[in-house]
Amino acid sequence: MSSETIYRAIAIDGPAASGKSTVAKQLAKQLGLIMVNSGAMYRAIAWKVKQEGIDPQKNTLVEASLEKWDLSCEVVDGASVILVNGVNPGDALREKEVNAIVSTIAAIPKVRDCLLSKQREFLHIGDLVMEGRDIGTVIFPNTPYKFFITASEKVRASRRSAEGLTDQVAERDRQDSQRKTAPLRAAEDAVVIDSSEMTISEVVDTVKAKLKERGWEQR
Ligand code: C5P
Repeated sequence: MSSETIYRAIAIDGPAASGKSTVAKQLAKQLGLIMVNSGAMYRAIAWKVKQEGIDPQKNTLVEASLEKWDLSCEVVDGASVILVNGVNPGDALREKEVNAIVSTIAAIPKVRDCLLSKQREFLHIGDLVMEGRDIGTVIFPNTPYKFFITASEKVRASRRSAEGLTDQVAERDRQDSQRKTAPLRAAEDAVVIDSSEMTISEVVDTVKAKLKERGWEQR
């Protein structure tokens, strides 16, 4: 493709453990898209805050540290990776200590500002699917390909415990929905899919059918 190619973004938002990551991964595989997990970027900052022993409630301390850290994003094997001062936190991103503070970190406007430009830059690399909380509302508001995947609180809590993870999903959702900057919500033009009673492949097929309806053509 020429350097003038305009790449396309599929936005998948939704609450914690709604199935959006698994759906986004499958979609990326089936349609040959770059898979970008925006939550991992907030988690990487939360991980570093924890590592450095910074109080996550002290916005000014977090902001001052953020300025000093080198955050770089890459695509490795078709998926996004974030490095903090050259280190990929890997599995540590999903530790319970990170789960406990990530929504506090994600509510800091300067943290969001810093990640917004990095998230948009992925669109220079290729067609992508990005999953998160504000992808359809803030990061790519002009994309016609927007989805909001939900599931009942009960289903989401049981999905997390089946993964053996300690994660207060309801508390994270409360914080993510109530924050002032870029709260979790469905964009007005998003296709809302309740996955409580659906298999992953049913959700993926629904997304693909809606993409087609909205003019997506496979390149
Ligand atoms: O998607 P995941 O559960 O890994 O996201 C972790 C946290 O990162 C969310 O609970 C939310 O606080 C924050 N987040 C966000 N905006 C995004 C993606 C994640 O605020 N686009």
